[in-house]
This record gives sequence, structure tokens and C-alpha cells, in this order.
Amino acid sequence: MHCFTKELLKWNLHHNARALPWKGEKDPYKIWLSEIILQQTRTGQGLNYYLTFLKHFPDVKRLALAPEQEVFKLWEGLGYYNRCKNLIATARDIYFERKGIFPRSHEEILSLRGVGPYTAAAIASFAYNQPFAVVDGNVKRVLTRYFGIKDSPDTQAGHKKISQLAQKLIPETRPAQFNQAIMDFGATICKPKPLCSVCPLRNNCFAYQHDRVNEFPVRIRKIKRKTRYFNYLILHTKDSVYLAKRRKSDIWQNLYEPFLIESTDILDKKSIVNSEKLKSFFKSGLLKWNSTSEEKKQELTHQTIIARFHEIEVTRQRKSILGWEKINLNKLARLPFPKIIAAYFSERKGSATSKHN
Ligand code: SF4
Repeated sequence: MHCFTKELLKWNLHHNARALPWKGEKDPYKIWLSEIILQQTRTGQGLNYYLTFLKHFPDVKRLALAPEQEVFKLWEGLGYYNRCKNLIATARDIYFERKGIFPRSHEEILSLRGVGPYTAAAIASFAYNQPFAVVDGNVKRVLTRYFGIKDSPDTQAGHKKISQLAQKLIPETRPAQFNQAIMDFGATICKPKPLCSVCPLRNNCFAYQHDRVNEFPVRIRKIKRKTRYFNYLILHTKDSVYLAKRRKSDIWQNLYEPFLIESTDILDKKSIVNSEKLKSFFKSGLLKWNSTSEEKKQELTHQTIIARFHEIEVTRQRKSILGWEKINLNKLARLPFPKIIAAYFSERKGSATSKHN
């Protein structure tokens, strides 16, 4: 056994105090659920979602049989909605095509929708004690520092090198403990700002011994952030509002939104009234402009969304518009919305209630 593995397991046994509700969990459904929720999500934020999902869907059958809208509503605010779509598809695949039995082999687990190498390794090791090493951000940070790996984990070659190393280090006899230990160690000791002075691995850590801790992991990828401007028109009657589901491959797939005009900057009223998109939807004579909100902002991982909401009353309604649903205001709470829209509707509801008090 490599001295890294020995030292890590020793730390895990005597000093690892990180408590998480899914730690030690053996049920593959719960492990899978926690891992899907935690992809691209901070543990603190994912925790509540995990507990809520488990309460509503304690097993794969309940999740598979749940209406899609209900699942998306619970996912609201967690972002990366493709994960939710995959979650539903996989739950249905397991329940309807695999007799409700979660696959056991690593290869089969990896074939599930939305399950990549990291999640497959987590399920195989935690649920079935199979020796597949997980490689997430924590693992990459720990291994690049300890072994002084100069390849960036952002490159394919760097990722491969780290994965192969992790696979060499994982002990056949205690794969679940090793995987949990290395992730916990990265989250609590070898953090982005590491606690080297109390680290039990420092005597053999390359970065620490060479005073180069800040150089690892080597980062090369700088993702450009993009700002998008969303002009939302709340086209409404006295008791309903027009909404559509976002379908194209973009952010917020499957969530509901009001009529959107996206532009290169926030538009003024005149530009909106003259926009071809609005004209093709409603004749301006049938619309009564009521109010415009302040600019709202939502930060996504690689995008900033700036939105403004315009309240526009539709004085003569069209019977039906392809792709659009006229939703009663009382039913809005049941639909899944992006965070920025959910916040606007709840503010709107609050001000409507206070007006009537
Ligand atoms: S000594 Fe510092 S850099 Fe090295 S493994 Fe420990 S915490 Fe990480």
C-alpha cells in the first residue's frame, strides 16, 4: 500500500469528522441521488435538496412514477436542469426497464443517463465496495499537490494522469473508505486554502516540501463569462398569465418563463413595442402597458443574466397560441421556474396581496 494511502486512511480513521447524511450509505438509489444533486453544486446547498428529494421520493419507484413537473419544481433553484431531466429518465429506465433494480456492474452503471465516470465510481465503490477511484475537484487538488503533478487537471492528459494515479492508490480491500477519505480530506484539510500546518501528510507532500503549494493544481482554462439581457413581458389577463416551457438547448431547459425578448442590452419600452417578435404574437393595440420592474440579476456558473419584467395586460385574448399556455395565477406555485422568475412572481404576488389589504 502506498504511503499516501496509508496516511490518508489513518487520518480518516482518527481525525475525519466530516458528517454528511449520505456518508456510509449503501443504498445505490440514495448514493446516485446525492451524487446527481451534488454535481456542480456546493455540498451545503445540495444537502437540503437531497433531504427534500428523499422525503418526496424515498425510492426509485416513487421518482419514476412522479409527474415530471413535480420533480422539476423540487429541483427549482438548483440549476443545471439537464441533470433533473437525466434524473427522471434514469429513474424511469431503472423502474420500467430494469425491474426497479439498480445495476451493479461499473460498466452498466456508467451506461445510465447522466452518470459519468465520477458518479459511476462513487456508486460502485460506496454501494458495492468495488475498487473504482472517484476523481472530483477535491481529489485533483490533493493528488496534484501531494505528488507535484505539473499537468493541469483541465487538460485531457492531466485528467487521465490523475485518474490513473487515483486508481493505483485505491486499496482493493477498502475502496469506499479511500474514496470518502480523499474527498473529505480535500474538503477539510487540503482545501483551496490548505491547512498545511495541521496536515498529517505534509512530510511526504511534494508541494509542501518544496514550498510550492500555491502552484498546484496548475490552471490553464479561463472560462469567459457572458452577460445576457432578458426582457420578460408578463402578458397577462385579470387572472392568468401566458407562459411557455423553455425547450431549446440552452439554460433552464423544461422550466417555464414568460414571453422573452433577448437582446444585447436591456431594451426600453419603445424598442419592445416595436419588436417584431412581440408584433407577431399580439397586436400592440390589444396590449396595455402597466409597469416595468427594476433590473434583476442572476449569476450562473458561466453567465450573468440581467432581466427586466414588464407587466402588460392583454385586453383581447387569443384563443390559443402554439407552445404557450395560459396559466391561472393561483396555479403558478406548482410550476418550475428559473430562480429569477420565481423571485419576481413571488414579489408580484406579495405586492398584489398588500394592495388588497
Ligand atoms: S501539506 Fe498542504 S498541500 Fe500538502 S497535502 Fe497537506 S494540506 Fe495539501
